[in-house]
Amino acid sequence: MDPNVPSHCPGTESTSAGKASACQGCPNQNICASGVTQTPDPALEVLKYRMSSIKNKILVLSGKGGVGKSTFTSLLARVIASENEQLNVGVLDVDICGPSLPCVFGVQDEKVHQSGSGLSPVFVEENLSIMSVGFLLEDKDDAVIWRGPKKNAMIKQFLTEVDWGDILDYLIVDTPPGTSDEHLSLAQFLKCTDNFSAIVVTTPQEVSLLDVRKELDFAKKVGLPVLGVVENMSTFVCPKCKVTSEIFPKNTGGAAQMALDMGVSFLGSVPFDPTLGRCCDEGVNFLQNHTESPTVKAIQLIVENITRSLQII
Ligand code: ADP
Repeated sequence: MDPNVPSHCPGTESTSAGKASACQGCPNQNICASGVTQTPDPALEVLKYRMSSIKNKILVLSGKGGVGKSTFTSLLARVIASENEQLNVGVLDVDICGPSLPCVFGVQDEKVHQSGSGLSPVFVEENLSIMSVGFLLEDKDDAVIWRGPKKNAMIKQFLTEVDWGDILDYLIVDTPPGTSDEHLSLAQFLKCTDNFSAIVVTTPQEVSLLDVRKELDFAKKVGLPVLGVVENMSTFVCPKCKVTSEIFPKNTGGAAQMALDMGVSFLGSVPFDPTLGRCCDEGVNFLQNHTESPTVKAIQLIVENITRSLQII
């Protein structure tokens, strides 16, 4: 923009749109900038305290909806919890507009309880518990129509009030698709703690990968370390003839090539298995009942890669 042209001149609006400071024109902007009006949020101390008993915090992200982020979140949690009964795993579902995890874990009719030590999550296994915004809705078909500040308050409440027990080894957070208020809030809150990272789930098509690149750029901008990218529905293994075929075109090399180009790890590919979809709808543990599926083996390998990377970072 030409510095000699006043910004209120007609024709300059489009170039300055979204760029002007929100404080511009406010008579109090100097007082605000001096910091005297800012008081530290007391909830942050509580948040730090709660988070200090959680060893690893993993955000599961995706550029688009429907790529299998919630499915992968549930599988990741189930594999970690089943492979070592000594480990405590918590799942936090902050996909505020589409909380599907209570259904995937088969606990959608449960209610959360408030005790003296906070909100108690719902236990799926002895060492696997879940907290979801879905539990707080009057009716599971209710639409959640909230603006940013309310979403921010809900996330803060989850991070400060959920009583995960004395020690939680993994907190796996299912987030909404894209980069919105929820992600900004999570990144802002988790930065007050340590040991947090993200995994990005995608399908192989270029339209999905385009959004993943944005997701990775977002993570970089907010200082969120990325453990790597998981490619879901990469192939389809026919349950009858066992022949593997590609469902989606991989014109640009799929997620593995994109990860290489973007300098992030590729954690592995998950084949499409129609039985997995059915198990998620019915709230049944796919891993336990379909051990012969190539999808189970692929997930186990990916979880191994994830736990190995967590020891490195
Ligand atoms: P997202 O959380 O990204 O919106 P979901 O995890 O809800 O996506 O998955 C969308 C749909 O695809 C669900 O019905 C789920 O059961 C199904 N699905 C996801 N991954 C697979 C897979 N590997 N094989 C079969 N069905 C899958």
